[in-house]
Amino acid sequence: MDNKDQIIEKYLKRFSINEEQKIFIKCYSFERKSFKEIEKVLHKYDNSKTYKDVQRLNIECNYYVNEIQKIRNKFTDKRKDDNNNSFESFLEWYSEEEENGCCGYCGVTQNELHTIFIESKVLPLNDKVKRSSGALEIERKDSLNNSYNISNLILACPLCNNAKSNLIDEASWRNLFAPAMRKYYEQLLGKSLNNPLPK
Ligand SMILES: [Zn+2]
Repeated sequence: MDNKDQIIEKYLKRFSINEEQKIFIKCYSFERKSFKEIEKVLHKYDNSKTYKDVQRLNIECNYYVNEIQKIRNKFTDKRKDDNNNSFESFLEWYSEEEENGCCGYCGVTQNELHTIFIESKVLPLNDKVKRSSGALEIERKDSLNNSYNISNLILACPLCNNAKSNLIDEASWRNLFAPAMRKYYEQLLGKSLNNPLPK
């Protein structure tokens, strides 16, 4: 099993799927095989399987395939020009970051952002503002180095990402501005943030 396979196996553990569903997802979402090709793989696994099983699996696996596609969309948006990284290594990075679910600078969580931007709308934003959903964004720590290499990526809240821009370096942002951004969020929420300040 090579590194890519290990990453895929580890990622798929989060889903409760059986062996043939796993085969379908691997072939479809990662190896990008056609239904005809998937039929051959499935037939090798169990020779009673036919094209109809592929069609059935396509329906059964719809949710999982969509979840992987959402992450792939982020990958191709940002990272298609960087040949150093495969989708699998991006998936590994992103799924771990997403699990932590907070801004890598100020520590505000996705849930807290949701409260601020969506539920209570304590941050008044025009609906046309593209960041109005308050989702965590993929940001480059060193934005002068134009690389979307994983070592240069971090999940950041819309305010940190926007304000840091490419004018403030990572260390200065962390030391000087991230603590202030926390205070601003705490003022908006009227309480302390859940997570400690990331290092
Ligand atoms: Zn932040």
